[in-house]
Amino acid sequence: MKVEFKDCQKHLEKKEEDWENLCLRCGACCGAYDDPCLHLRKGKNNKFYCNIYHNRFGIRKTVRGELFRCVPIKQLLNTHWEEDRRCPYKKLQTQTLNI
Ligand code: SF4
Repeated sequence: MKVEFKDCQKHLEKKEEDWENLCLRCGACCGAYDDPCLHLRKGKNNKFYCNIYHNRFGIRKTVRGELFRCVPIKQLLNTHWEEDRRCPYKKLQTQTLNI
């Protein structure tokens, strides 16, 4: 069976979309329950969003003035943040590792 490049690309885009959709927008990984990033906003639906989402990676500052490096969530999964027990990515990692 021949796999077309565009089918492969569609598959990867769907996987990426599924991964993004796991996020509950709880804002916890962005400090919502502790010291939030200055770019974190709460929407009318009570879900959080980043006001520079597509350009978020790099050095950022919290409300209290702490500097930190914003990275993809995959790079945070071995760390801890306030209320991280809510995060589906953390739960998925725990299930995958069976810990
Ligand atoms: S802690 Fe997890 S679910 Fe909550 S905003 Fe961050 S990535 Fe999304």
